Order: sequence, then C-alpha cells, then structure tokens
Amino acid sequence: MNTKELDKEYVAGTYKRFPVEIVSGKGSVVCDPDGKQYIDMGSGIGVTAFGIADDQWKAAVTEQLGKVQHMSNLYYTQPCAVLAKMLCEKTGMSKVFFSNSGAEANECAIKVGRKYASDKYGAGRSTVITLENSFHGRTLTTLAATGQEHYHELFQPLTPGFVSVPANDFAALEKAAREYNAAAVMVECIQGEGGVIPLEADYVKAVREFTEKNDMIMIVDEVQTGNGRTGQLYSYMNFGIVPDVVSTAKGLGGGLPLGATLISDKCKNVLGFGDHGSTFGGNPVSCAGAVSILGRIDDALLASVREKSAWLVKTFTGAPGIESISGMGFMLGLKTTKPAGDVVAKCMENGVLCLTAKDKVRLLPALNIPMDVLEKAADIIKAACV
Ligand SMILES: *Cc1c(COP(=O)(O)O)cnc(C)c1O
Repeated sequence: MNTKELDKEYVAGTYKRFPVEIVSGKGSVVCDPDGKQYIDMGSGIGVTAFGIADDQWKAAVTEQLGKVQHMSNLYYTQPCAVLAKMLCEKTGMSKVFFSNSGAEANECAIKVGRKYASDKYGAGRSTVITLENSFHGRTLTTLAATGQEHYHELFQPLTPGFVSVPANDFAALEKAAREYNAAAVMVECIQGEGGVIPLEADYVKAVREFTEKNDMIMIVDEVQTGNGRTGQLYSYMNFGIVPDVVSTAKGLGGGLPLGATLISDKCKNVLGFGDHGSTFGGNPVSCAGAVSILGRIDDALLASVREKSAWLVKTFTGAPGIESISGMGFMLGLKTTKPAGDVVAKCMENGVLCLTAKDKVRLLPALNIPMDVLEKAADIIKAACV
C-alpha cells in the first residue's frame, strides 16, 4: 500500500486530508513524491515559522539532539531555562510553563486563572468567559472554552464553568462576568479558526480595563497569532494592552511540538510545586529550536512581515473574485466570491498550498518567505479566485 492507502486504512479518520503527500521541502517550497513543487502558504497552520528545514533551526535542533533529547522535568536543562528567559524579556511576563500544544497551553492558562481566583476569593469564582466563534483546542476543557456549539455536541458533558458571549459586545461580557462571578476572561485578539477576524481595538481595551478593575484574569490565546505571526511578537501588542496570562504554541517550536503559558507578575506565584506538570513539556530539543526561532523574530523581521503583508493586501484589494481581506501581518483571510474550498483546490492544482478558515481562504506563510516566492504565490491565488 502507498502512503495514502496506509493512512486511510490505519490512521483514525479525524482529518479530511487534501490529496497531497509531502515528502520534502526547503523554506517555503515543499515537494510531493512525484517532484511537484508547491509554495506553502499555510506553514503547517502557522507552525513552521521559518519554513521547512530552515538551516539555523535545524542546526540548533540537531546540536541539542546530539547532547540530550529528553530529561525529566525533575532535572534542569539549559534550553528550557534560556527560552523562558527570552520569552519573559521579550514580553515583560514573569514566568513560563512549558507544554506540548496549544490546547495544553490553554489548559494551563485556565488553571492559572481559576487558581488565582480561588486562592484569593475562595470557592465559587471559577467561571471563564470566552467569546462566541472562538477556538481554544480539542481537549474536553478547551472544547468547553471554544464558543462554537458544533464542536461540543457529540462530547457531552464537557468541563463546566465556561460561558461564551458575542465578540465585540462589551455590555454582554460585563453582564456575564458579573452574573457568573467570573474568574477569568479568555480571548483570541484575532479569531483564527473562526475566520481570521480581529477583535475591535476599543473592545479589547475595554475588556482589559474591566478585568483589571475587577481583578479577573485576562487570558489571551496567542496559539495561532503569536510568535511574529501578526507583525508583532504577540498579537495583543497590536492592541496596546498587556494581558495577565498568554498562551502560545504553533510557531514557537518552528515545527516541533511546544506550548508555552506566559504568566505575568500578578500571577507568577499562582502555580507552585505539584500544581501542574508535563512529562514532555519544555523538551530540550523543542526548546533549542524555539530559542533559534524566537531569537530571530526581531524588529527587522517583524517590520518585513508588516511590509510584505501590506503588499499582499494591496495586491488582493479589488482583485476579481476577492471581496474582502481580513487579518493582520501574515495571518490573512480572503473572502472570495467562489467557495473558499474551490479556490484552495485550484491553488493546489497550480502549485500553492492555502488553508481555509470558515468561509475564507486563510494565508499563514512562513515569516521569512522571500518576496519573489510570495509574488508567485499571490499571482496563482489571484488567478484561482476568478
Ligand atoms: C490551533 C489552536 C489551538 C489548539 O492548538 P493545538 O496545538 O492543536 O492543541 C488553540 N487555540 C488557537 C487560537 C489555535 O489556533
């Protein structure tokens, strides 16, 4: 059996895969078994921040792989400690908990929010307010946090203590937070899976002011938006706020599994010995890769993401078959006249891999995609929209 047949036979049928197998790649170009090349405008859903088999990342990872690939968190390892310092210095946060995925980073964030409230206010203050159309992960708790009913239906009962309210409706959030005596509020500044929809800036500010005033923990889910994706290191930096807790994953490890929950000074002592843990969390190989990634997401790279993004937006604005463009930086959504799935299929045929998000074509290219490659991809995408 070939790969596709083996996969269909033996891998759990949770993914509706595109009819393409990828065997190799370099940077923003990947290759199928017949040698057909594709420009990767999805970067593994925002994971391969510097593309496929990036030389610096690969060197950092293989060097660590030759030293020690895993130690229990009962011992110290350098990459984990160094990465935590980098994350704190770049964000002003005080502590980092490492895990292996976005859902786990969110689980930790929720635990911090709830424990902060119970330490300070006792029982009865545990509800987390989230937004409708959000996406926070696939575990039973992060599904409960996800404000999209269709993800919930088949898996009841979910973890209790989550209430979702419409985005950009501050009055609704305030009402729910008071009614349920909320411990925390959790948002994506740009809803990713929900369709690449940024929150309104005034709303984000109002939520931050409200949570601060009422001593509720504001969690920002930066799993998709983080690590340079939106043209700032973290998307909240576009909104002029500083959350209490930030969760991130996807792009952080550059392609290896790594989640991180960044904890501000206010909450830095909430988690103590035994309160949380992960066997693989902070894995030295993943962390060594992340140190290489994060060290290169500097002001110059972020400026180039913003510039290339502005070029993309200009190219797509008013193009035939493209009705509107949403998002920030290298997290863009195209509302197309044709169904998004048809556009993505046409792009694939012509050598460009794109994603969808709800009814949009979603683009999450590598942060270092060269301009000539981006131009070529944009031409193919435009042609596919007509
Ligand atoms: C992808 C994603 C998650 C889940 O991350 P996993 O690594 O798949 O667990 C959570 N939140 C957001 C905003 C995401 O985009």
